[in-house]
Amino acid sequence: MKSNSADLSETARNLLGRDQAAVWHPLTQHGSSPKLLGISRAQGIHLYDTRGNNYIDAISSWYTCVYGHCHPDITAAVSRQMQHLDQVVFAGLTHEPAVALSEKLLEVLPENQARIFYSDNGSTAAEVGIKMALQFHFNQGQKRSVLLAFEEGFHGDTFGAMSVSGLEVYNGPFSDFNLEVRRIPVPSDEHPEEALRIIAELGNQGILAGFIYEPLVQGAAAMKMHSARGLEKILNAVKAAGGLLIADEIMTGFGKTETCFASEQLQTKPDIICLSKALTAGLLPMGATSCSQEVFDAFYSEEIAKGFFHGHTYTANPLSCTAALAALRLYETPEIQEGRQRIQEAHAHFGQHIAGHKAVRGTRHRGVIFALDLEVATQRYGSLRDQLYQYYLDAGIYLRPLGNTIYFLPPYITPDTALEKLYSTTEKLLDSL
Ligand SMILES: *Cc1c(COP(=O)(O)O)cnc(C)c1O
Repeated sequence: MKSNSADLSETARNLLGRDQAAVWHPLTQHGSSPKLLGISRAQGIHLYDTRGNNYIDAISSWYTCVYGHCHPDITAAVSRQMQHLDQVVFAGLTHEPAVALSEKLLEVLPENQARIFYSDNGSTAAEVGIKMALQFHFNQGQKRSVLLAFEEGFHGDTFGAMSVSGLEVYNGPFSDFNLEVRRIPVPSDEHPEEALRIIAELGNQGILAGFIYEPLVQGAAAMKMHSARGLEKILNAVKAAGGLLIADEIMTGFGKTETCFASEQLQTKPDIICLSKALTAGLLPMGATSCSQEVFDAFYSEEIAKGFFHGHTYTANPLSCTAALAALRLYETPEIQEGRQRIQEAHAHFGQHIAGHKAVRGTRHRGVIFALDLEVATQRYGSLRDQLYQYYLDAGIYLRPLGNTIYFLPPYITPDTALEKLYSTTEKLLDSL
């Protein structure tokens, strides 16, 4: 069929109209949110809208598509796989993609990790981690029911994951139904005294089940970063208090920070690690929760009830496993490693360059993550966010500002010219404020 630009905008209008009549979007107040943007395709670092405009995907579609969209290696591997095994029950049956992925993950994860449990998104990966920790103690006849979590942490939207998340504005209606959670402040320096006091108290009472944390960078809290030394002290205190460590690496995993997993930058290794997002490079949904031999052994028994009775229909879906395997192969290529390094250096350089600007309250970066806080009055956040979003869209850049924070987490293949565009567009914005 022939198409011209008039047809294209007709298609765009049509899509938005049909959307409004039938769809309920995530994290959206339909009564007040700004207009939707229809996306028709994505390739490499770009998203293309239904009018034919393109945008740099500066947040890798929520930290998933780090090798670029529709990477041919990944799409080819998955289309080969879908010719012979699409989906199968994973209780009582097994298959090559799941076994090969588990072996590969254990090779790259911190060396104390011994088993991989699959689910189908980040929230379920966190939920599984929480349930593993609670049952770990239960199976040993210990009553440990309190979970520890950071203020402003984010671990997902299912009940367990939501309970441990600290961004309460969104979770108000459910706060009476939450798990038992104590919160500690994120370590701002190497001396997390307040956190250590709370942990010691829980230790004395013998009620601490585990601590769930986003190591080094809190994504949903607007890319807040904390000290590895401070975190290390907290991790050691939790261990001393008898709790398990549950590292939520759903955002940080697969090369977002300086290392493949942020946990590698800490001496104390987690007992449980939650993964999703870049695990499958954005092609298919998948969650994975790894654990140490000690955790697995606490469930290993002739008693059926000591087993872990958790499962999802799409557990270890062969196509998702195949996408994850292809993604890990890409991760190890020189091109990707060079890209991560190059982006990290460019971010550091840009951070220095704008640090003294009067419109900048502060900048921070870690690996491929860059964030800057604008110097603006808090009451302007609401409308400011939408204006910033539109400003970048108009410049051909897709990102999601949070409050007064603008952050980038570009795909590892982003060329210098595109990075330059992110920086120069940002500088122009700063000069206009
Ligand atoms: C995105 C995210 C989750 C939740 O993952 P979903 O797939 O959106 O359910 C959990 N923890 C962290 C740190 C995340 O960034």
